[in-house]
Amino acid sequence: MKVEKNKVVSVNYILRGEENGPVVEQTKDGHLLEFLFGRGMMLPKFEENLENLEEGGKVKFHLTPAEGYGEYHEEMVVNLPIKIFQDKDGNLNEEICKVGNHIPMQDNKGNHLIGKVLQIFDNAVKIDFNHDMAGKDLYFEVEVVSIREASEEEIEHGHVHHDGHCCHGEGGCHKHDGEEHHCHKHDGEEEHHCCHHHE
Ligand SMILES: [Zn+2]
Repeated sequence: MKVEKNKVVSVNYILRGEENGPVVEQTKDGHLLEFLFGRGMMLPKFEENLENLEEGGKVKFHLTPAEGYGEYHEEMVVNLPIKIFQDKDGNLNEEICKVGNHIPMQDNKGNHLIGKVLQIFDNAVKIDFNHDMAGKDLYFEVEVVSIREASEEEIEHGHVHHDGHCCHGEGGCHKHDGEEHHCHKHDGEEEHHCCHHHE
């Protein structure tokens, strides 16, 4: 089986910020990175370099900032009203909203964004929506560990289901039906929406 669209691919990877430099990120302790190939989950250039590899295949490649997580944009550092992070009684969720934390959010176009909390003021929170790797070169070493057929449901959803469960994104686990957890924007709500403070 080859790495191609709608296959579930599991990889080990090492990411460095410069050639042969220190490791920035890597899969560890047998926790592979698993994703549905060709569905926009990963950087397009990352996928391009993996396409058609077979199990056990290895590849080493470099992505420019433009091919990676984009340039660093000062204007993506914004002050958001603190009420976004407060419950209806005005209490700040300090577990979520603390300096250095990465918060999954969504903008008014439905784009998922990760915001890093830089500073907390009385009425506002300074958030950096730049990716941590924005403006950086990416040096990847990737090994394809396994490839499998995706289920119809996975193909329909556009993402991998671990052990048959539908798990969405960054730390949150959400259901499509029944809406046990809900992390998505409702019409008319804040432009940016904290994914965590729903009960
Ligand atoms: Zn799903």
